Amino acid sequence: MKNSMRCPKCGSKNIVRISDNPARYSSGNNIYLSRLTLARKIPVIRYVCCGCGYVENWIEAESELREIERAIGR
Ligand SMILES: [Zn+2]
Repeated sequence: MKNSMRCPKCGSKNIVRISDNPARYSSGNNIYLSRLTLARKIPVIRYVCCGCGYVENWIEAESELREIERAIGR
């Protein structure tokens, strides 16, 4: 859906990208790399289908994927 901008569930092309922007009620959808309060957090970008309500979650930056891998993965 992120790449095609087309919903895999209903086929709608009415896709909205929701970034992690505290000013627009969409914050809080992050991955924290430790339990510390000021820990590095990775924003999770959401894609919402306005046709059926389906939502996808994406980490968009390659560097952020590597950070998660190092801090949490394997
Ligand atoms: Zn849909």
